[in-house]
Amino acid sequence: MTSSPITGGCQCGSVRYDIKKLGRATICHCRMCQKALGSFYGPLVTALDIEWTRGKPAVYASSNKVTRGFCADCGTPLTYDWGKDVEIAIGSMDNPTLAAPVLQVNIKDKLPIVDALHKLPMRDPNANEGTAEIVASIKSNQHPDHHTTDWPE
Ligand SMILES: [Zn+2]
Repeated sequence: MTSSPITGGCQCGSVRYDIKKLGRATICHCRMCQKALGSFYGPLVTALDIEWTRGKPAVYASSNKVTRGFCADCGTPLTYDWGKDVEIAIGSMDNPTLAAPVLQVNIKDKLPIVDALHKLPMRDPNANEGTAEIVASIKSNQHPDHHTTDWPE
């Protein structure tokens, strides 16, 4: 468990939150989390006492038991709510290292690639000529990893 301030939000900055305390962080391999997060699995952490400080997530009922929150403006997946506790998509936190998963759940749906990810070759960031220039030319529209008074600036 970690104490506040724990902050985060969506990519465009329309939705921002504060969390007082984090509960257990997990990796969920269920097919619904794969789809909802557009990923191989769903990294989620229980958010104890969450406050929406800018905007609120839109909600999709992925089943009769669970709703999933996302930013209606940019589509960032934000929450998993099963009616008891709200869980937050760990990647939406300003500092995702605060929520290191301690358990994998719903492993019957786990994609085979997951166990081989750490074996994949890694591209040398300096291997391709011109990459530094391309990266330097990118102007990000992503909200920074901290609260802002006015956004977009
Ligand atoms: Zn957004």
